[in-house]
Amino acid sequence: MRKIIHILAISMLLILSTSCGQVKPYETDAFAMGTVISQEVYGSNSQKTSDEVITKIKYLETLLTINAPDGDINKLNGNAGKGYVELNPGTVSVLQSARKISGLSGGAFDVTVGPVVKAWGIGTDNPQVPTEATLKDLVSLIDYADIHLDEAGNMACLQRPGQIIDVGGIAKGYAGDVAKAIYQKNGHKSAFINLGGNVVVLGHKPDGNAWNIGIQNPRSETGEVVGAVQVTDKAVVTSGDYQRYFEKDGKRFCHIIDPQTGYPAESGLMSVTIIASSSAEADGLSTACFVLGLDKGLDLVKRYGQAEAIFITTNKKIHLTKGLQGNFQLKDANNEYTVIQEG
Ligand code: AMP
Ligand code: MG
Repeated sequence: MRKIIHILAISMLLILSTSCGQVKPYETDAFAMGTVISQEVYGSNSQKTSDEVITKIKYLETLLTINAPDGDINKLNGNAGKGYVELNPGTVSVLQSARKISGLSGGAFDVTVGPVVKAWGIGTDNPQVPTEATLKDLVSLIDYADIHLDEAGNMACLQRPGQIIDVGGIAKGYAGDVAKAIYQKNGHKSAFINLGGNVVVLGHKPDGNAWNIGIQNPRSETGEVVGAVQVTDKAVVTSGDYQRYFEKDGKRFCHIIDPQTGYPAESGLMSVTIIASSSAEADGLSTACFVLGLDKGLDLVKRYGQAEAIFITTNKKIHLTKGLQGNFQLKDANNEYTVIQEG
């Protein structure tokens, strides 16, 4: 009799653990926003939630990409210098976050960098080095203060003709926040999404442990990690010179532009990772820190106040902010990198 009860108890446990869906996540990969989007969602109806997230991200892409003629960003750009256009509240939210990070970073992050991004063509089939005169002209069009927002009316305008907004430095981060909100709305307690280097995790893993997030080795041809951090309920967003770049005459030109010069940022960094609650803001911050370099970047992270960061310099030093002490695990098979703990 005792044996039968024991077997019954074990069977019940097995049924419970699979029927609650607590152990196995629904895992899926999809392509949107120019990148592979991977999700791991735990709990009931996780497939339905993953599908909902992808549908929403594809919709956001049509609003935010510079390649969609009827999208919000193109409407705004097409009307530059001519007055306000009505926007989806999501687009307004992206512009609000962008403006916040622009102000904090003194314009190192600036979504009006569009004309210069276009001139370089980085990430297109025809990347090129523009002339100095061209860049000088185009840099004069960059100024986030020329984005006027009417939040209550969901409207915005660009002050001057020729100005172009490019939200490529913050859109995937925003999409990560939107995905997390959908996971929460649908009652999930644990979920992971990676939008091409923009990771967001909801809660703990179902076993109660933190999530282990790999940080890419910026010079690994095969995308190997150089280390990992343990996080709970956070966004982990990386900007790196290995993500999109082209080479000419042996020189690497990366996709992150210094708005002051119009040239790709060369601040002594190969990558910056920001860990924060807001994925959109972490995305803006990582781009800004890449432009600013180590010292000014560390200062920006401190002023922002609720973020940790990992800066990897061109001379292979990995600088960690205070809150990451004892958290970062180095996985440096070739002994190339040195970890430096900042105070
Ligand atoms: P990320 O990979 O998030 O650092 O963003 C880089 C993308 O943002 C580029 O591909 C451009 O579309 C855009 N971008 C480049 N430089 C800047 C900048 N200084 N501020 C804002 N967006 C930028
Ligand atoms: Mg960014």
